Amino acid sequence: MPPMKNNNDSLQRFIFESTDIRGEITTLSSSYQDLLALQKYPPQVELLFGEFLAAVTLLSSRLKHSGMITVQARGSGPITTIMAECSQDNKLRGIVRGDFDTLDGLSTLQELLGKATLAITLEPEGKERYQGVVPLDEAQLSSCLEFYFYQSEQLPTKIKLTSDANSATGLLIQQLPSSGDQEKSQEDWQRVSNLLETLSSEEQLHLSHNDQLYRLFHEQDLLLFEPTEMQFSCSCSRQRTENALLSLGRKDVLELSAEQGLIMINCQFCSQEYRFTAADVKQLFDPSEPLLH
Ligand SMILES: [Zn+2]
Repeated sequence: MPPMKNNNDSLQRFIFESTDIRGEITTLSSSYQDLLALQKYPPQVELLFGEFLAAVTLLSSRLKHSGMITVQARGSGPITTIMAECSQDNKLRGIVRGDFDTLDGLSTLQELLGKATLAITLEPEGKERYQGVVPLDEAQLSSCLEFYFYQSEQLPTKIKLTSDANSATGLLIQQLPSSGDQEKSQEDWQRVSNLLETLSSEEQLHLSHNDQLYRLFHEQDLLLFEPTEMQFSCSCSRQRTENALLSLGRKDVLELSAEQGLIMINCQFCSQEYRFTAADVKQLFDPSEPLLH
């Protein structure tokens, strides 16, 4: 794979050699910009959305096979829903819903979302869906995710998320179950997590992955893997929209079609419009009947 300029839109795994610690580092630029261009969010919503996108990217490596992972918060505040989704083949999408007219002067997680919960959902294709839910009651999204890992997998995890108008970034380290000396393993973890604490937002936003990791961990033996490219891509399609119409039921959809003539459905993620004429609807529900033009 050719080297990527400034790590834009990539996820990289790394390991600390001769320890039980693994990590992930991500920067999203074009994909983040593409997503922001579709919806007009206020600045503080964009920043929080960026953190959710970076977070789901960091978590996406937990999908071993094809499928989807979602990080979603629902709250009672001005933001009612914020979600970011990543597929195993590194496609990102997401959305924020709420009353953005009431956001003046609000910026913290609690101000924006009110009383909220955070759900992490893994949907491996053809396998059972898994969902973990934790309260969104810390000052930072990263702390809530750290608690999620602690609660659901008993894996000590540290996460740093930062975003600005141009990019969304994240760095995660995780202590895997120790394969040997418990005491050494604990010391390694303490040292590496203390070093991570010194990473500033500026560094996350402006240094390459290599430079961030060198700045933090140059005294450790660290192996950085090749970057995986991330991109914004919506998984909607005409076929999926047809399936959604079918699931609404013949009676309701035929009625709607008779009322409106043309049924127009816009994807909430990418605004793609799908149009269904009365003939399309009839064909959808009665595929055996020949179409008369
Ligand atoms: Zn779409």
